[in-house]
Amino acid sequence: MQKRRAAISMIFIAVILLSGVFWTGYEKSMKKPLFLLRKNSYAAVREHIHVFGGDASENMTLIISGSDAAIIDTGCVLADNSEHRSVNRLKKLIDEKQLDVRNIIYTHYHLDHISNTAKFISNESKGSVEFYDPLNTTDGQIIKMGTCVFRILHTPGHAGSRGGHISIELPGENILVAGDVLYTNFIPCMQYEDSPRAYMETLKRIGEEKYSLIIPGHGNILNTAYTVKRPMAYMKRLEKQVKRVIASGGDLAEARRRIKLEACYTDGEGMNLKDPIQKEFHRDNIRQMFAELTGESLGEPEGMIRP
Ligand SMILES: [Zn+2]
Repeated sequence: MQKRRAAISMIFIAVILLSGVFWTGYEKSMKKPLFLLRKNSYAAVREHIHVFGGDASENMTLIISGSDAAIIDTGCVLADNSEHRSVNRLKKLIDEKQLDVRNIIYTHYHLDHISNTAKFISNESKGSVEFYDPLNTTDGQIIKMGTCVFRILHTPGHAGSRGGHISIELPGENILVAGDVLYTNFIPCMQYEDSPRAYMETLKRIGEEKYSLIIPGHGNILNTAYTVKRPMAYMKRLEKQVKRVIASGGDLAEARRRIKLEACYTDGEGMNLKDPIQKEFHRDNIRQMFAELTGESLGEPEGMIRP
């Protein structure tokens, strides 16, 4: 009897250990980019869905149905006004395939996502292009273009005081074009007066959908679970630590002194957490979280305007 019990225990332990090995392997595989989108690079994630990585690592997505095309976000303008190679490449593809741009969708009104629209509209096509953005769409709204269907999701958390934010679901493909509520090369950014709680709800909602691909606002296309998991873990740690500072009577300055980025974003693989932009996002995220948890208004954002 005892031998049998020992054998069962051994099997049980072996199963636990083996599942650990598989789990670790699975976790590791999630970190590998499914599509690399280095500066000015390009990926066809489906035959009719093309993603262009711009100079500010911003992603522009082209969706094709027959001879009709939709563009989600039109990219940034370079500071020195030099040629934007990704925008040219996108334009070239449209010309080569002789596509008519029918829909232009902005995930949000930040300059790195809306600045090249004029390049995609000709005098002849002017009247026939439909524009969609966070202000003229409703949550759940369906837009159709030939055989393609777009479903608009209102996804607050990044651009609150600057017109809101939407993500675009392609239900037929199980793909989400997330916009800037998801980055894979930056930590979350709530610099624009958005609510941390609303942002966490957005992450939860996206995470529950289990898309087969998420195209982030900036950065490579990674496994979808991993794309959502990292910012969510960061937000939870940030909330916990800010609560701790408030409970001990600390103010915002103390929260910023005590709460280190590396302690909140513990899985920064593929990211440079020493980058001043990341530090600045973190400083402002602390500020947003502090304001929400205390109900205090902390005035204008202090950071510079970034992606
Ligand atoms: Zn951006």
